[in-house]
Amino acid sequence: TDVPTVQLNDGTEIPQLGFGVWQVPADDAERVVAEALKVGYRHIDTAAIYGNEEGVGRAIAASGVPREELWVTTKLWVGDFKEGNTKQALRTSLEKLGLDYVDLYLIHWPSPEDEAYVQAYQDMEELKAEGLTRSIGVSNFLPEHLDAVIGASSTVPSVNQIEVHPVLQQRDVQSADASHGIATQAWSPLAQGEVFGDEPIVAAAEAHGVNPAQVIIRWHLQRGRILFPKSVTPERIASNFDVFGFELSADELAAIDGLERDGRRGAHPATFN
Ligand code: NAD
Repeated sequence: TDVPTVQLNDGTEIPQLGFGVWQVPADDAERVVAEALKVGYRHIDTAAIYGNEEGVGRAIAASGVPREELWVTTKLWVGDFKEGNTKQALRTSLEKLGLDYVDLYLIHWPSPEDEAYVQAYQDMEELKAEGLTRSIGVSNFLPEHLDAVIGASSTVPSVNQIEVHPVLQQRDVQSADASHGIATQAWSPLAQGEVFGDEPIVAAAEAHGVNPAQVIIRWHLQRGRILFPKSVTPERIASNFDVFGFELSADELAAIDGLERDGRRGAHPATFN
């Protein structure tokens, strides 16, 4: 399967559909990532705080997939950058992953009680210059956090990874991203399975002979977002990747847009420390 790519503002090309491993236990990570790579995923989204970078790394090493065909994202934990430990944190992640570089390094949360995230971003610019990550970005940044980083740095983050799914679309953040040339990545893209029964999703699934998860994944793809749904079940890992044989109509997309109801599932970036 040829997954479409999105060109980031630093010129790198990221596969638009990947595989996420939050809440995948360390002991399971090798098996599920191996499964995902077998199915054809070439983009893996992990984080230091997920505790499963070693398993991800073992699956990558065993897969035989050439490194340059893979996109690997990991994330800098808040405690690390508050302690001024950004550079060492990436080196530790690389060691666990068994890689010489990652493709994308993200500040996991802004934790805006202070502006330590600005220094973290500047440190990440140096990590990029050193070749330890191809691209750098942020996660859970509100427009004011983007402004703080952009105002104090010589580059613009390539990515902002935020919670986006049919019932929480954060259009204000998405448009701030777009206005800066920052690509939006959607986390919890399936709302962790909570919106599969919503009428426009069920209707589109029936119309196209697919399942509700596949409809939601298509909606993100056709709206231009990057996403990496998570599953530990082989059939779901496969079906979540089998989304290139149908297309939602403009009306179907608009009906899913209409499901917005401030249905946040995760923490709020302004208060998460
Ligand atoms: P998700 O929206 O991808 O939902 C995953 C859950 O949906 C699964 O556990 C399963 O219960 C269900 N599911 C998946 N596929 C299904 C299918 N085909 N049929 C039926 N049910 C299915 O949730 P997520 O894992 O929270 O988010 C995806 C990824 O986003 C994470 O793994 C992680 O990589 C990333 N993420 C990042 C942050 C952040 O702060 N940056 C926060 C949360 C998640």
